[in-house]
Amino acid sequence: MQEIIVTAKCRKNGKYILIKFEKQESRWNATDSWKGATSEISQKRVDTDKKTIEAVIGVSHTYPGCPYCEDTQIFRCSTCENMYCYDGESSEVYCVTCDINVILEGEISVIEGNDRSTGAHNATELGQKSDEIGLK
Ligand SMILES: [Zn+2]
Ligand SMILES: [Zn+2]
Repeated sequence: MQEIIVTAKCRKNGKYILIKFEKQESRWNATDSWKGATSEISQKRVDTDKKTIEAVIGVSHTYPGCPYCEDTQIFRCSTCENMYCYDGESSEVYCVTCDINVILEGEISVIEGNDRSTGAHNATELGQKSDEIGLK
């Protein structure tokens, strides 16, 4: 099974979340999520070996939603290129990184993340490990 772990943020509190995407037929769908590292420095350490996937990106019906606010959809800010949780309803969302409102249009067509098949550990482990070595 092909899967990658994407670093995203909760759009409400700006905290890191990790989203697992799996290749399902021709699409890549979000299937699981965890809380990420608590600081930018420790999260950057696990963001190595990034792989870019260009495909139709979606959300699986089994995706549990954002680990903080439980929003079940995802958007990608075209300015900062980060991904965030999303309620699936608003046509305009606030990006906590850019401090602007982003108008949503079209589907997500690219994701960047850690390829799990090339040595990345379980995302939960990554989050916890980076917390231990990170600055709090
Ligand atoms: Zn959230
Ligand atoms: Zn942004």
